[in-house]
Amino acid sequence: MIQAAIISTGDELTTGRTTDTNAGFIADRLLELGIDVVAVLTVGDRPEHLRWAWSEALRLARVVIATGGLGPTADDLTTETVAALLGRNLVHDEQVAERIRELFRLFNRPMPENNMKQAAFPEGAVIVPNGLGTAPGYRVAVGSPDDRRHLVVLPGVPREMKPMLTDAVLPWLAELTGAARVGHRTFQTFGISESGLDEIVAGIPGEGRWSFRANFPEVSVRVVVRGDDVDRRLDAFGREVYARLGQYVYGEGDATMERVVGDLLAARRVAVGFAESCTGGLVAHRLTNVPGCSSYYRGAVNAYANEVKERVLGVPADLLAARGAVSEEVAGAMAEGARRVLGADIAVGVTGVAGPDGGTAEKPVGTVCFGLAAAYAPTVTRRYRLWGNREWVKLLSSQIALDWVRRHLLGVPLLEIGRGGAAPAPAPAKSESVAPG
Ligand code: ATP
Repeated sequence: MIQAAIISTGDELTTGRTTDTNAGFIADRLLELGIDVVAVLTVGDRPEHLRWAWSEALRLARVVIATGGLGPTADDLTTETVAALLGRNLVHDEQVAERIRELFRLFNRPMPENNMKQAAFPEGAVIVPNGLGTAPGYRVAVGSPDDRRHLVVLPGVPREMKPMLTDAVLPWLAELTGAARVGHRTFQTFGISESGLDEIVAGIPGEGRWSFRANFPEVSVRVVVRGDDVDRRLDAFGREVYARLGQYVYGEGDATMERVVGDLLAARRVAVGFAESCTGGLVAHRLTNVPGCSSYYRGAVNAYANEVKERVLGVPADLLAARGAVSEEVAGAMAEGARRVLGADIAVGVTGVAGPDGGTAEKPVGTVCFGLAAAYAPTVTRRYRLWGNREWVKLLSSQIALDWVRRHLLGVPLLEIGRGGAAPAPAPAKSESVAPG
């Protein structure tokens, strides 16, 4: 298997002013081609540090992909460093130079002479065109035929780098590595921890490489296969994943919970509504991010104050007094009220203690109750104990509310957090967990 290293360049990255999103994006795409990323190096704009990063990366990997430092200013040193390291001259490319001049003419701006720096490349470089900016990227092959290594240099600006990688670099890499015989499938899951997933997929027979990505509050699991019969083997993995993890897998590829729920509601012609207390409208916000939601989304009542729960949703005052605003009974009554006032087929009510204050011994911070009312079924309720700060409790609660709609429409049992069996609690992040209510 081919190994790659990634170099992210720029003082803005080492000082923490900019978060390195390029490396993750590139690593993800390489993994899809079955290329192993063995190191990600981040260095500032100092020649000696750049030299160190390039030497280390080339020692470790056959393919090195670097971003940043291609600009026209004095601190953009990538090309000079690469050329010096390889012992190659810089060669002026007139076609690139003309394109840069043309861009400046187009914007009616005088071109500073140092922009011509971006038309110089190490001898032997193959230029990677940049459709959106002035700095093209390039790739250079080094070493003897039996120890060939490849350097790829791309601009740091993510919106320029991404299409360059996708359109020019990945197809070339696919050919270089024979990745026509590589395939992948990514399953989006919710309600099961990364370790729980790991345990289950470890038992799936067949040759494939599994990887996980926790992106609170969901975890995606990807399998990459190489060799013969890629499609058949991916199908077989898919069948196993659904058989073993079915209820937790809400979609594949770049599916989001809100889109999956929206598609289901549209397909079944079910109108949904919500009564949101602790989520403060987050469920509504997420669902209305999906274009076309007007065909199934009725609305939400943001019933934060008890008075609103009472007056708008019709939650009985004595129920609020007897059970408290954060109770399964009130969550159920909120859902029923929302269904009625919004004219929805189904409605979910959410009420909880998001914290940091407001917790009690009986209802600590993170206690969140849910209710689902439907025209054709008795109201169901659950009380969960969620972990994390206020923002996490809100986000996780909104995810659970959407997942309840999904499970209800599919006829899948509700999430039973932490009640044993194969359903470990959803993990906010590697070090966090969600405990039973
Ligand atoms: P430019 O011509 O704009 O100077 P460049 O190739 O020299 O392009 P840099 O100057 O290193 O790129 O970065 C330009 C901008 O792109 C940075 O200010 C930063 O906002 C963003 N950027 C650079 N590297 C990364 C990265 N690894 N992840 C996310 N953003 C990045």
